[in-house]
Amino acid sequence: MVESPQEILELAKDSQVVGIDEAQFFSEDLADVCNKLADDGKRVIVAGLDQDYRGIPFEPIPQLLARAEYITKTLAICVNCGNPADRTQRTIATHDRVVVGASDSYEARCRKCHYIPEEG
Ligand SMILES: [Zn+2]
Repeated sequence: MVESPQEILELAKDSQVVGIDEAQFFSEDLADVCNKLADDGKRVIVAGLDQDYRGIPFEPIPQLLARAEYITKTLAICVNCGNPADRTQRTIATHDRVVVGASDSYEARCRKCHYIPEEG
């Protein structure tokens, strides 16, 4: 685990392949760090959610997608209807963008079944 993307540069200095998970929890510096690692000849593999619970692009994923040579977008299965799901439905009442360690507070939903919780 790292506190900031810059720590990855030091940790990965002797590595050929770097894997980064939960990229949506990093600051926007992650895109620059990944770019530096790739410029240094390393293979960089990044995974993360591309949308927050409202369906809004989740920084820094858009910057990573724009700079990546290859992108694989995987889908879950909507728990409501069984169709391919690319959204995250929050099932608890909070409007914080990130609720860490709350995997039971989210479920996969398709575009049709996803809704944005009311503010307030
Ligand atoms: Zn659905």
